[in-house]
This record gives sequence, C-alpha cells and structure tokens, in this order.
Amino acid sequence: MAEFVLPDPVVQLTDVQELARDLVVIPNRRVPLVPNIGLIGGTRSVLVVDTGMGTANAETVLKFAADFANGRRLYLTTTHFHPEHAFGAQVFAGEATFLINQAQAEDLKVKGPGYIEMFKGLGESVARRLEGVRLATPDVVYDHEHDLDLGGRVVELRATGRAHSKGDQVITVPDAGVMFTGDLVEAGQFAIFPWFPPHDTDVSGTRWLAVMDRLAAESPRVVVPGHGDVGGPQLLADVRDYLQLLRDETWVRRDSAMSEETIAEEVAALMIARHPEWDGQEWIEKGVGCLCSEHTA
Ligand SMILES: [Zn+2]
Repeated sequence: MAEFVLPDPVVQLTDVQELARDLVVIPNRRVPLVPNIGLIGGTRSVLVVDTGMGTANAETVLKFAADFANGRRLYLTTTHFHPEHAFGAQVFAGEATFLINQAQAEDLKVKGPGYIEMFKGLGESVARRLEGVRLATPDVVYDHEHDLDLGGRVVELRATGRAHSKGDQVITVPDAGVMFTGDLVEAGQFAIFPWFPPHDTDVSGTRWLAVMDRLAAESPRVVVPGHGDVGGPQLLADVRDYLQLLRDETWVRRDSAMSEETIAEEVAALMIARHPEWDGQEWIEKGVGCLCSEHTA
C-alpha cells in the first residue's frame, strides 16, 4: 500500500478573500489540516476566528491580524478545540483577548493534551507544527451565547451544543450575512466524524443534524466552512442532507440487524456514488459507527 504523506499544514497569506467590508478570510487552499481563518473588523476592535495549527502558523496569523487591525484592539475566538483550529492560541496571549464558549474551554483543557499526542502520530510535518504547543487558557468564557461589539458591528458567538465536538461554536456577522461554522460544515468533503472509541466518542450525528437544521433556517448569505471553499447557504443544506441520508441509510440496515461492518461498506458505496467528487471518504465509516451507537429501535 502506498503511504500517504500529509502536506505541511502551513497557513499562507496568498489569496486572502474579502467577503464584505472589513471582513476577510485567509483561505485554506484545500490543504488538509489548514482551516479557513477569519478576520472581522469594527471601528474599535478586530476578531480573529481560528489560529492554524501550531505557533509558527499562529504567528503568521497574528502578524496579519495586527496589520489588518492597524491599532484596533484584537480578540481571538476558535470554532472548536481541534488542533488546526485552536492549537496556536498561546501566541495571541497578551496581544488579543481569547474568548470562547464554556464547553469548548472544557474540551481544550480535558481533551487537548490527548489530541496533541494523537495528531503528532499523523506524520512528520504535523508533528513539527505541534512542537512547543501549550494549550492556551481563554481570557473570557461564556455559557451559550455572547454578542461581541467591535464598534459599529456586533458579532454573534453561539455555542451550538454537542455536534462535531462537544464545544462547537458558530460565529455570525449579521450585517454582512456571513457565518463561520468551523467543522460543522466542510465544502467538497464528507463530514468529519472524530469517532475514535473508546478515546473519543463526543461527536453526535443526531445532534449534529439538529444543529444543521437550525443553521440552514438562518440562511446566511455567505458560509465559511471549516475547510474547503467559501460558499453560500447551499453548503448548510448539503451537510444537513448528507447527515440525514447517512442516518437513515445506517438505521434502516441496523433495524435489520446487519453487522456494522456490512452497513459501513454498503453505506459508503452509496454515499460515494452520490458525491463522487467529495474528499474524505474515510469519514463515512466513522459516521456510520457513530450513528450505529445512536440507533434507537
Ligand atoms: Zn474539527
């Protein structure tokens, strides 16, 4: 079997996209383990969404943010605790106010160390990025919702409840109709189910589906997924439809007492036929495993 070597997950400042006035995305250029990173400006402050993996990437982002802010105060938030989204936050200490939801703060503290070790095992380039990473402590923690006034622009931070992780957070900029979803939504790839029993079983397919129903109902103009190209509200519908089909096709087979292995094979074939252009086919089987555990007779 040919060994798949992950490319270096480096954040690059090429092709920065302006989505609205004073609102840009540093796109992930479809590089695995690089997130889409957002900067949202108001008259007084700038909010950075996600850090990239490791201190070197976060330094790139911080420098870009400081230039963008041009004297305005900096805030940092992260969509969830996974390494490429949050494991650079230490670099922002003393430079930005790090603000996240309570469940995510808990994830970062409790599960962060295990994820550093797990991700170091993914390959040389990832391990190098994670050298020297310490898990940051947020400066401000909120329970379920927080409105952040950047000066002439209010950004809505909302904890969604357990879905892709326990501490997922969605960031919306109502005046621009822009929504940052983190890994609740990916473009051009199958939904990432971090289903690693017995170590991590926090992902919930059924709760995730309910969250997607709610987000789709908000119909934002622009959706910034965790990974992949920025798109419109169709991205939300695509994930919702995929999760619904994944659940239905898994459960109908579970009802007939089929083995999890056979279900995974059949459902994966079905989903790949439906979305032949999507990456991340390995996540289908994880999704099936998760949904089997959530099956109710
Ligand atoms: Zn994630």
